[in-house]
Amino acid sequence: MSAQLFVVATPIGHLDDMTYRAIDVLKSVAIIAAEDTRQSALLMKHYNIATPLTACHDHNESNKIDILIERLKKGDNIALVSDAGTPLISDPGFKLVRAAQENGIRVTPVPGACAAIAALSSVGLPSDHFSFEGFLSSKQSQRLLQLEKLKANTHTMIIYEAPHRILDSVADMVNVFGGDRQVGFAREITKTFETIKKMSLAELHAFIESDRNQQKGEIVLVIAGATEEKDLEQEALDKLLLRLLQDLSVKAASQLAADLTGMKKKVAYQRALELTSAND
Ligand code: SAM
Repeated sequence: MSAQLFVVATPIGHLDDMTYRAIDVLKSVAIIAAEDTRQSALLMKHYNIATPLTACHDHNESNKIDILIERLKKGDNIALVSDAGTPLISDPGFKLVRAAQENGIRVTPVPGACAAIAALSSVGLPSDHFSFEGFLSSKQSQRLLQLEKLKANTHTMIIYEAPHRILDSVADMVNVFGGDRQVGFAREITKTFETIKKMSLAELHAFIESDRNQQKGEIVLVIAGATEEKDLEQEALDKLLLRLLQDLSVKAASQLAADLTGMKKKVAYQRALELTSAND
């Protein structure tokens, strides 16, 4: 069988989140291409993996590719790993995988931990349709533009964020998406100070602002899509209006609903009219 490039996922915190197959593959290949050889050396030591490591990161990826492809062509199996989680997911490796594919070399995934999927699977937001947005820009003006583009998305969005930017980033999200939008906060997944929470963006901002520890470590944000929030708001408003309309006129019910919810009276009035005619 010709040589293969194995794309191997490694733990994102807890070392036990390594699969048996990942260990077997890493022990059996001729060489391991690693994002940071010093970082990966610790993992290899933990699992008694003696396979040589070679650096393959963002800065040398292009130069390294030719060398690695030549070795694969000669019949050497190679494994690609990143510092943590699944290679290529906000990590280097795409160019190597594409080059292997273009050279007719089989690319085999060895799946395992990924912070995005671990967060999505635990924060309690719809997971049937989602997008992975990676890291937002570190520049606020760019970040606001990116958020504006995401604002109307109706699916769940997964975002990676650096701890030193989390407060500013969440503040921008409150401004663009509105403070009521639901968000999942997954910090230090699988580690000692793991925090998994779901709340509104405004609540999250207050939570991390009041506790500096929540601004530390590794963080994934999972943002609810626009539709679900609107549906829930609409559902709550309809429930309120229907109850008020049992005792009050359309005008009085919509005035009271507007006072209670902060919504525009005109919008409440229009909806009250629709509900009344639907019930006629
Ligand atoms: N390839 C990795 C994966 O499969 O998730 C992601 C690498 S990316 C350079 C690092 C980012 O992933 C962090 O800044 C954080 O947003 C997220 N991340 C990685 N490990 C995490 C963890 N244990 N808890 C929460 N977020 C994590």
